[in-house]
Amino acid sequence: MSTQISEQDIQKIVQSVLQNVEAVMKEVPQSDSSPVRLKPAVHPEQVSSAMDRHTGASSSLQGDHGVFAKMENAIEAGHAAQLQYMRNFQLKDRERILSAMRQAVLAEKEILAEMVHKETKLGNVIDKIAKHELTALHTPGTEILKTEAFSGDDGLTIVEEAPFGLIGAVTPVTNPTETILNNSIGMLAAGNAVVFNVHPSSKNSCAYMVRLLNKAIQKAGGPVNLITMVENPTLETMQVLIDSPEVRMLVGTGGPGLVKTLLKSGKKAVGAGAGNPPVVVDDTADLEHAAKAIIDGASFDNNLLCIAEKEVFVLDSAADNLIFHMLNNGAYMLDRYQLEKVMSFALEENEKQVAQGCSLDSKREFHVAKKWVGQPAEAFLKELGIIPDAEVRLLICDVDFDHPFVQLEQMMPVLPIVRTRTLDEAIDLAVKAEHGNRHTAIMHSKNVDHLTRFAREVETTIFVKNASSLAGVGFGGEGFTTMTIAGPTGEGITSAKTFTRQRRCVLAEGGFRIIG
Ligand code: NAD
Repeated sequence: MSTQISEQDIQKIVQSVLQNVEAVMKEVPQSDSSPVRLKPAVHPEQVSSAMDRHTGASSSLQGDHGVFAKMENAIEAGHAAQLQYMRNFQLKDRERILSAMRQAVLAEKEILAEMVHKETKLGNVIDKIAKHELTALHTPGTEILKTEAFSGDDGLTIVEEAPFGLIGAVTPVTNPTETILNNSIGMLAAGNAVVFNVHPSSKNSCAYMVRLLNKAIQKAGGPVNLITMVENPTLETMQVLIDSPEVRMLVGTGGPGLVKTLLKSGKKAVGAGAGNPPVVVDDTADLEHAAKAIIDGASFDNNLLCIAEKEVFVLDSAADNLIFHMLNNGAYMLDRYQLEKVMSFALEENEKQVAQGCSLDSKREFHVAKKWVGQPAEAFLKELGIIPDAEVRLLICDVDFDHPFVQLEQMMPVLPIVRTRTLDEAIDLAVKAEHGNRHTAIMHSKNVDHLTRFAREVETTIFVKNASSLAGVGFGGEGFTTMTIAGPTGEGITSAKTFTRQRRCVLAEGGFRIIG
């Protein structure tokens, strides 16, 4: 059977194809250098309707933009996507995809921040917006990958940073969507795909993020399902991830229980565990600057960050001055009675003798009451029946080393201050309070010998001098950012480099044999 098509029909078809191509091109995000268009602040209804559109939507076997009902399907789809990614996409394609992901998040950073706050009820929206922005702009892409070359009489050898394949990643409730973005950028930059088992208390926001990123990837011409997750994450779905032969590497960001579980897997595992960052302040420090920096770090997102200042050790001779400046910059000093009251509602006795928080020590006398984690200072004051004259960002208290607020990673805007007679004592106690997490420590001092001594003794992955802890992840400090600080397994500030395998390619004898 033959069909007659006129010259006019052919013209119409060509026109319509050209229009479609133009429309698709308009949707492809511009290169990194193009200005980012930011949306105005969102209204709560926008967040609710965005969440409603996505929560409870049942995912079929094919998934919904990366969100799957079953972990097995999320793994299968991620594995297929990674093979396609490796076979058909070059480095420049990866950069185009990463740029689209960054821009999608920047355009919705307010919506994401509101959504996470609404779902987890932790931290505050303003700081969550800043975390999304920081992660989108300062997580490195392919530029951090380097090929090493050796050349000489015996030929040429190159060592490439190759992908692992499919990575299984577990995220915390404290930075849920930010960790998805940060991990995804690094993992995709290195040529991998990733399957997430997120913290259950953040699953709806995380599903929104995964869908947002997959849509951006597809618009930029990338394969579907490079980032997947299971809709209802549990410890069982995590076990499926750990046991799957398709998953070549595991990356866990969270407390010590998670890190221990992943390290038992028999697979290459990157463990980013808990912190309890101590601050040491000596009598050479600029105490006003130290006070402001400590408040900035300890009050950010209501002290949720693992790098945030959690306890201060200050020399007796500097303590009153430091506290004076803290009180002038948004801190409120709890008296003995108020402190006891805060302990009565923000701590729980460890009756069952179980480990929780930053340590696997089950003998701890107290645990943090979940209800108070990440709550604003004003909520604590309200519970105490105090109406402050000015804005309070942080509560402080003068305590001994053994106080539970010093020993626990409390993640509340309550900062204990311990006075010490000597620098040796301050460093000794700070090292003990860090509990060997090797995470983050901060020092305020103008004496280089003192700074070096503490840095050597505490051996943390991040050591910040004379600034807020935030500088340690590129927020007001040099260097790129991460949401996964791998202290226990030693990779440190993770990036695309962390998610690679070394591959050596040898061209011997200059590529040819001399005969005769
Ligand atoms: P969490 O350990 O309770 O949960 C983290 C993730 O691990 C979640 O997805 C959870 O479902 C899972 N999980 C929890 N216990 C587990 C176990 N025994 N076995 C297997 N999986 C388990 O931590 P959180 O409350 O979500 O986050 C706060 C903690 O994470 C703090 O200790 C904080 O210091 C740490 N953290 C570390 C980093 C870092 O980069 N090192 C970054 C953010 C948070």
